Amino acid sequence: MQFALIPYSTKQREITSYSNLNFQFDNSYARSLPGFYTKGEAEKSPAPTLIKLNTQLAEELRLDPQQLDPETAAQIFSGNQPPDDAEVLAQAYAGHQFGNFVPQLGDGRAVLLGEVIDIHGNRRDIQLKGSGRTPFSRGGDGKAAVGPVLREYIIGEAMHALGIPTTRALAAVSTGQKIFRDNILPGAILTRVASSHIRVGTFQFFAARRDTAKIKQLADYTIARHYPHITTYQDFLKAVCDRQASLIAQWMHVGFIHGVMNTDNMAISGETIDYGPCAFMDYYDPETVFSSIDRQGRYAYGQQPLIARWNLTRFAETLLPLGISVEEATTIINNFTDQYDHYWLTAMRRKLGISHSTDPSDMQLANLFLSTIHQLQLDYTNAFHTLQTDPGTFGAFATEWQKHRINHDEMKQANPIYIPRNHLVEAALTAATNNDLAPFNTLLEVITQPFTHQPGRDEYTQPAPRSAPPYRTFCGT
Ligand code: AMP
Ligand code: MG
Repeated sequence: MQFALIPYSTKQREITSYSNLNFQFDNSYARSLPGFYTKGEAEKSPAPTLIKLNTQLAEELRLDPQQLDPETAAQIFSGNQPPDDAEVLAQAYAGHQFGNFVPQLGDGRAVLLGEVIDIHGNRRDIQLKGSGRTPFSRGGDGKAAVGPVLREYIIGEAMHALGIPTTRALAAVSTGQKIFRDNILPGAILTRVASSHIRVGTFQFFAARRDTAKIKQLADYTIARHYPHITTYQDFLKAVCDRQASLIAQWMHVGFIHGVMNTDNMAISGETIDYGPCAFMDYYDPETVFSSIDRQGRYAYGQQPLIARWNLTRFAETLLPLGISVEEATTIINNFTDQYDHYWLTAMRRKLGISHSTDPSDMQLANLFLSTIHQLQLDYTNAFHTLQTDPGTFGAFATEWQKHRINHDEMKQANPIYIPRNHLVEAALTAATNNDLAPFNTLLEVITQPFTHQPGRDEYTQPAPRSAPPYRTFCGT
């Protein structure tokens, strides 16, 4: 069964002006993988205005922030003036959404501008998200509203500051266009930087079409790009599982809930990708769900390791035609749980200040801590600080824990003081939607130094009062 990509059908616009800013793009995806994308361009924005430029990241990408004055940046990052060596394209992918397979998703509201090599020698994708319709848009408008764009900006940068692999935000611009959701909202575009946008769903797209040649081509490309030391497809699968085990353990340690762990939202690079209805848990409860569309709790906090394994099983299935046997794949997938437990316990020992310990019973100790804070209904992030100042709060756990030699410096390094608190994120996004960027800017400042005490900013350490209505996030599409 062969499916051709839908040809690019919307009217091509003439590009009339180019930026003279030199991105030095090197577009390996466009070059190596014809048939994996459609060429296109961003729609024009009527009145682009720069909301935010990540100058540090710009420098990392060898872009000169001096040349990126707000006017130029707005033109480039709205897609109005694509850099002259950009090869604008929309990538094809499929995916399991809430467990149901959709054979064609793809970049329906994003385009890749190209790839750059950063100052560390790493290849990074530069993508515009919210840039208008593509052949993959189905019924959607291809646009994004300023709220979700800034949510992705702030949560992604928070994750980066916490040391967790993630796509990042290079810029946010408002387009000057109104977009229509439940109400009328200002449109915006996020410039997203990723080590690549290859997803489990990218493999599924070609697996669903029984196109083994393309799966092989994609696997070879992905190995060369992300796992260059690897020589077999078995080892490729192992390495992808290993990175996901490490990633999900890191999410769990900071209380991050992705919210839509569909297979199209799992990056083969091991970076966190596609921040939609994501949020950080406050009061500890493994059943926490914030997303309004996740009615069954499929993507609840405590489900995330299981779901990652489920997604990796779908990934493994796509590699079977490359000569991995079902037995080999099963062994590798079964190993995921051990890998995950290993990463989880190693970092949890640091959070509890006992990383010198190699006692396997630390797993029970860590779980006792979690069941204790669950019972006491404590804020997850703050509980690790309370443990240092007021261990008595934790009753029987504290007695066991204090039998260890506690390393308090280690605890300070492992436990963030500041995470993006839901009610503060919401307040910042609401203000930004009404043209007041001050709360967003302050929040960004706070959460990008998560381990440093910031005098006068204690309100940023507090969860919303219990009397507040339950927090709900929306997909923002
Ligand atoms: P997401 O929920 O961001 O993971 O997106 C799932 C799929 O829906 C992807 O193929 C997106 O490109 C597509 N999509 C989401 N929002 C829009 C939109 N506003 N217009 C067109 N496609 C969209
Ligand atoms: Mg997605």
